[in-house]
Amino acid sequence: MKCDNIIKEFLLRDDYNTRPLRIHTHILFCGRCRREIGMLTDIFNSFRNTHPLPMNNDMADSIMQKIYENIQPAVQTTSPFSWIAAWIIIMSGIFLLPFNDQFLWLTKYFGINLQIPVIIVMGFTITIYSIVIIATHMKDIKKFESALKNFLKHH
Ligand SMILES: [Zn+2]
Repeated sequence: MKCDNIIKEFLLRDDYNTRPLRIHTHILFCGRCRREIGMLTDIFNSFRNTHPLPMNNDMADSIMQKIYENIQPAVQTTSPFSWIAAWIIIMSGIFLLPFNDQFLWLTKYFGINLQIPVIIVMGFTITIYSIVIIATHMKDIKKFESALKNFLKHH
């Protein structure tokens, strides 16, 4: 329960690169939160670094909040289905983005050229997320691979 509060507090911050003492001391002793916060910080930073324009914080936060909501149960149960569900949510987020009010406002403000860099950033995010899924499910993938090889051998 305490871990959930720490992650929530981290996600509510404006600057993900500085952490209050409460989070600092917690992740010093909690490997799970340390990995999760580290991973989220990397995603946030890559998100901002690849974007040619200053990122709208609210938009990034709402996307990350959706990702977080789906990562949380996945970390606890490590069910591949919740990872896939999160992946589908991110993908639909990418396709629904052009219909987002905030995005439409940004497009009006910066011109139509914004659409292309945003799509690139979203592509980058989904790539990172896919890598995370694959990296954390190496065992399942190997199991599937050997099962497939067995199947092909006998058929
Ligand atoms: Zn923790």
